[in-house]
Amino acid sequence: MKILRTKPYVIPVFLPNAGCKRRCVFCSQKDITGHEKIPTLDEVKKEIEKFLRHLKNKERPVEIAFYGGTFTALPVDLQKKFLKVAREFIDGKRIIGIRLSTRPDDVPPDELDFLKESGVLTIELGIQSFCDDVLIKSNRGYTSKQAINACREVKARGFKLGVHLMTDLPGSSNYCDLFSAFKTVELDPDMVRIHPTLVIKNSALERMFFEKIYRPQSLEEALDLLSDMYLIFKRYSVTVNRIGLQIPVELRDSIVSGPYHPSLGDLVEIESFYKLTRWFLETFNDGEIIIAKNKLHFLNSYGKRNLKRLEKFTSRIKIEDSKNISFRLKDKIADYSTVLEKYIEELHSKLKVEGRR
Ligand code: SF4
Repeated sequence: MKILRTKPYVIPVFLPNAGCKRRCVFCSQKDITGHEKIPTLDEVKKEIEKFLRHLKNKERPVEIAFYGGTFTALPVDLQKKFLKVAREFIDGKRIIGIRLSTRPDDVPPDELDFLKESGVLTIELGIQSFCDDVLIKSNRGYTSKQAINACREVKARGFKLGVHLMTDLPGSSNYCDLFSAFKTVELDPDMVRIHPTLVIKNSALERMFFEKIYRPQSLEEALDLLSDMYLIFKRYSVTVNRIGLQIPVELRDSIVSGPYHPSLGDLVEIESFYKLTRWFLETFNDGEIIIAKNKLHFLNSYGKRNLKRLEKFTSRIKIEDSKNISFRLKDKIADYSTVLEKYIEELHSKLKVEGRR
């Protein structure tokens, strides 16, 4: 896995739909962030000050993130004003840098230099999918080719690249979403976020849901898909920063339908353990899994979910005083990453064979 420096605190500054020239079908920023208006420069400054005052660990690095819109599509003057506010905190050595989210069709190469000079370290691109028909049906307004080029440009200019993906968008399939994960890996991002599509109040998807044009995945269906995506990223050492939308408790009524869970990331990790273990034990009749005592939560958490599902393999599940999870086959030990590699290899060839569905 990549060795990361201490994960920074991120101060999110929401600029709801700022710069967006179109509305994506799943989006209603005000309903998931609670922010309706673009804040003034003064409000941004006060919000950052407030966050910094309440930091628990003053040693941990801090970044400011402009989220919730298409930052690089804002008038350049306005971008510069927001960045200047953040820059003052960098100059005062109170934060280490800036990150921003934007769309892949709005990253003008000639503007990247001033972003760099202004202290932007990371550009997070809302790619969502690398399947063109999914992008069309979600009203994203760019092609997968544009998305690929934008990722390459961001990396080539020396920024850290974040890729946002969404699963189960209108017109998508598990094939499409797994294809998007493999495509993302090829582009070598520094981090990934994955959000299963939720039906949010006041979005176009809400209407599609009530007209029965769109049906979101159940939590179980989402876990099945997300765990494979998680394993793909793990196999290629791509950091997964977040799985699932972070929606404040008071706004959770905005979720009309969809696979929301406040600890989705944890659930996905537990599911991915199950997937890999089941695959190994089914593939190798004489194989065993060795679980370190400090990893027993993979079997026991969420009401012993995995222990129950792996019941028929109980005699081949060994709990030992080891440090990690490993696998044993004919007295030979295979570490977790070797088994993961094989699992992903098989998943990849299966996708190629099955083709698009
Ligand atoms: S680009 Fe992002 S913020 Fe703008 S409408 Fe689409 S999802 Fe919402």
